[in-house]
Amino acid sequence: MFEILCVMIAVQVRSSDSPCNRIDMTGTNSKKPAKRCQINCVLLLFFTITAFLYGVYITSYNKRPYTSSRKFLELFISRYHPVPAVNSSQEVLDKLNSSSLVQVHFIDVGHGNAIVLLDDDGTVIMIDSGNRYYSKEVVRYLEKLGVKKIDLFVITHYHNDHIGGVPAILETFMIKKFALSKYQPEYLASRFLRQIEGKVAYEHVGVGHTWQFGTIELRVVGPIREYEHLKGKPGFYVENNYSIVTQLVTPAINVLFMADAKRRAELDLVNSYADLKTDVLQVGHHGRYGSTTEELLDVSKPRYAIISTCGNYPYAHMDIISKLEQIGCKVLRTDHHGSIVLKATEKEYWFKVSRNHS
Ligand SMILES: [Zn+2]
Repeated sequence: MFEILCVMIAVQVRSSDSPCNRIDMTGTNSKKPAKRCQINCVLLLFFTITAFLYGVYITSYNKRPYTSSRKFLELFISRYHPVPAVNSSQEVLDKLNSSSLVQVHFIDVGHGNAIVLLDDDGTVIMIDSGNRYYSKEVVRYLEKLGVKKIDLFVITHYHNDHIGGVPAILETFMIKKFALSKYQPEYLASRFLRQIEGKVAYEHVGVGHTWQFGTIELRVVGPIREYEHLKGKPGFYVENNYSIVTQLVTPAINVLFMADAKRRAELDLVNSYADLKTDVLQVGHHGRYGSTTEELLDVSKPRYAIISTCGNYPYAHMDIISKLEQIGCKVLRTDHHGSIVLKATEKEYWFKVSRNHS
């Protein structure tokens, strides 16, 4: 929006060059048009700045105003933090076009999660659906992939950026089964269950639960335990800790999907002695501060990190990105790279992104 307004103001200034300095046929400056032009410019500048500031405020997911100029500045630094481009070599591009055993699609749904796992035997697994505002894009994406049915649909937790697209997907595709966390609070679960009850089977799963489809093995590794609610608050942050954390295990690659798990859930996970070593980490809570602890990175040692984010503060926090880069992890993010596709054979894996960010 800011860029569009800048172009508008540039056009206005350019088009107003002549009237501002217009000399009429008598050879004197025409002051009235010049004054009107200056007022127009000032007004346009005022509206541009106001609209920009308003846009920045309301695009914050929680609609909370920025509390300091540092955070305000951080928004821009975070948005334009450079990320290395991928898939530059022709050899890799050729391989990407050849067949693969397993594909993982991190669909660009702005602030939210929508992940598709495909096995070459035709198995389709989804982890979350993204927000309802992106449901048309997600349906189109699945149709483009040739999806007809979804064998398993994992709902990590009941926030809108993870379940909002479910009704549209449910309307379009046959879903065989939903997997829900056994620890989710009842009042949240019941709202979701009303949508699917009698239409689709579902199961409540906990740590140790494993699904095996073709070459895909998907394990539930978290949450480890139940988390109490914060007093006086309906547990917004606590609900994130209820997120189902899953681990994809294939011959070539492991992927750890953290959903929105926060620090406490991460530390519990680390102390559970589960084998969390992974090639690819789907970064917790959209790269927001308060997830992706050193403890988790120490045990998971990811080579690649995927952040599903709209890019606005406080998501895709630059401290988190720096922390990942410091351990040699290559960061890919949906706000920069668009939808990100991971393809793996028995021995190798590659990434394909819908747009390269330089
Ligand atoms: Zn989320």
